[in-house]
Amino acid sequence: MELEKKQIREFKAEVVKVITETPTTKTLVFDLNGLNFDFYPGQYVMLNVPYKGEILKRAYSIASSPTQKDTLELTVKKVPDGRASVVLTEETKEGEQFLIKGPYGKFVWVPEMGTKLVLLGAGSGIVPLMCMLRYIISAKLEHVRATLLYSNTHYEEIIYREELQDMEKHPNIKVVHTLTRSHPPNWKGYTGRINADMVRKEVQDIPNSLYYLCGPPKFVDDMANILAELGVDKHSIKKEKYD
Ligand SMILES: Cc1cc2nc3c(=O)[nH]c(=O)nc-3n(C[C@H](O)[C@H](O)[C@H](O)COP(=O)(O)OP(=O)(O)OC[C@H]3O[C@@H](n4cnc5c(N)ncnc54)[C@H](O)[C@@H]3O)c2cc1C
Repeated sequence: MELEKKQIREFKAEVVKVITETPTTKTLVFDLNGLNFDFYPGQYVMLNVPYKGEILKRAYSIASSPTQKDTLELTVKKVPDGRASVVLTEETKEGEQFLIKGPYGKFVWVPEMGTKLVLLGAGSGIVPLMCMLRYIISAKLEHVRATLLYSNTHYEEIIYREELQDMEKHPNIKVVHTLTRSHPPNWKGYTGRINADMVRKEVQDIPNSLYYLCGPPKFVDDMANILAELGVDKHSIKKEKYD
């Protein structure tokens, strides 16, 4: 399905709020200052990040729903020894301004593409998937059914943990967690990496669903292999690799 391209804009925006999501992850809320910034759920922007006298240009998926018009949210996870992600998660304060350009990307979903969604994410790969879930809820798309399989290393690293829990109150949204390295004693989710059995158990209509895979390149490749093993048509799979 060919979607009409959204207009690419370049604008300075002020950080009006910094939200701590996990010990390594922050959400930066930018004031859109009346700009009518339009994008498809799943798209990203390029952010100019000042670092030791240079400007680093980095891609960040949009976390907030396109129905949210006043502010734009980006969620950044600190990469060990990373540069931009360290500036954004450890040094950035309310009142700072950044140059933003976008939206970009083909990792998008609109209801016309399919109404049975399976979202597979690892770590910060949740961000564009969260945008889709927030959009489903805020636009009241009750005919859309979405299943999220979200993999993290540790419980404390689950981004948007409480909001994801609240989302499960919606009968059309299902959230499934797995933890790969440690888990609390009373943990009710899965442990270990997402595998074919988990997908078989948790996804209702495997052949007729639309799949969105996002996270580190290896995670995305592994998930694509699992889906191939389950007989999913490769045209039903969209991928976004955070490399
Ligand atoms: C489409 C897209 C969307 C994305 N969306 C998000 C998002 O929503 N949230 C998010 O958190 N991330 C996202 N990313 C990843 C993001 O763009 C950055 O890659 C990430 O924040 C790391 O940037 P950095 O400057 O901190 O890391 P860099 O400094 O570029 O380092 C990256 C890696 O290289 C290593 N490294 C650093 N310096 C050197 C060096 N001098 N020599 C060798 N290796 C080095 C680091 O250890 C690190 O592992 C997205 C990426 C893409 C492509």
